[in-house]
Amino acid sequence: MKIPGPVYLILGLIVTGLSWFIDSKTESSFALFFYIGLVFLAVGVFKTIVKIIIPKQDEQPFAQKPQQQTQQKIQQQPQQNNNSNLKYCPRCRVQVSLSNNFCYNCGTRLR
Ligand SMILES: [Zn+2]
Repeated sequence: MKIPGPVYLILGLIVTGLSWFIDSKTESSFALFFYIGLVFLAVGVFKTIVKIIIPKQDEQPFAQKPQQQTQQKIQQQPQQNNNSNLKYCPRCRVQVSLSNNFCYNCGTRLR
């Protein structure tokens, strides 16, 4: 349940206010809605008090989860590039190994 306390307070005020208003205008009884509204008000007051006493305790675990997911994605990416063990000399276009620092054909520095 991620409904904040003020929402319960507003809902409780609306439900109790409407049921009291309809009850006073008509013959039919809305006592049940009035008590439901009182329950919402009580929950809203309770949640607001809890949030004031214990501020932002639930938000830390949610903030750490996205960082773990991005780290897993970064670790998976290098495995896809295993086929490119060869590169081409930028000067003479000869195929050279990645382990070579210089081109064997023209001597151009490769890295
Ligand atoms: Zn070369």
